Amino acid sequence: MATHNETRRRLLSALALAPLGALRPTSAAAQARADAPIRQPPEPTRAAFFAHARALRDQAVREGDQSYGAVVVRNGVIVGEGRNYVVLHSDPTAHAELLAVRDAARRLATRDLSDCDVYSTAIPCPMCQGALYWARVRRVFTDGAAEQGMVPKLAC
Ligand SMILES: [Zn+2]
Repeated sequence: MATHNETRRRLLSALALAPLGALRPTSAAAQARADAPIRQPPEPTRAAFFAHARALRDQAVREGDQSYGAVVVRNGVIVGEGRNYVVLHSDPTAHAELLAVRDAARRLATRDLSDCDVYSTAIPCPMCQGALYWARVRRVFTDGAAEQGMVPKLAC
């Protein structure tokens, strides 16, 4: 039989842990989407990677967020994808490129993306350039910009 103090301690620890549940960033449905394999384009071309990034951007806009999308590509395979969640998640750092890098690193179980390129619908901001730099991304290609892409640089 639990004493009054044991019962009280159990209740208090449950209350103390309750906010942690709220910090979980995703619902079960969102987690299932995050674990789902990425649908690959029929041909592994630059145009197809940009088209995938644009589709992510368009999805973000449809859902009421900012218009950015990005994919991480390794050996012709999309290994990470991201679109802006700044508005929907009230997260000023939820930029497409940063989330794409996180997605690729999680899926590949590595923090070293030095054999990966990023295709983005826009020129990455300094924060995202920093994320690409720390992930050691090889090149970032921006829709409509220089064909050869650019090497991510630390902005500061
Ligand atoms: Zn950014």
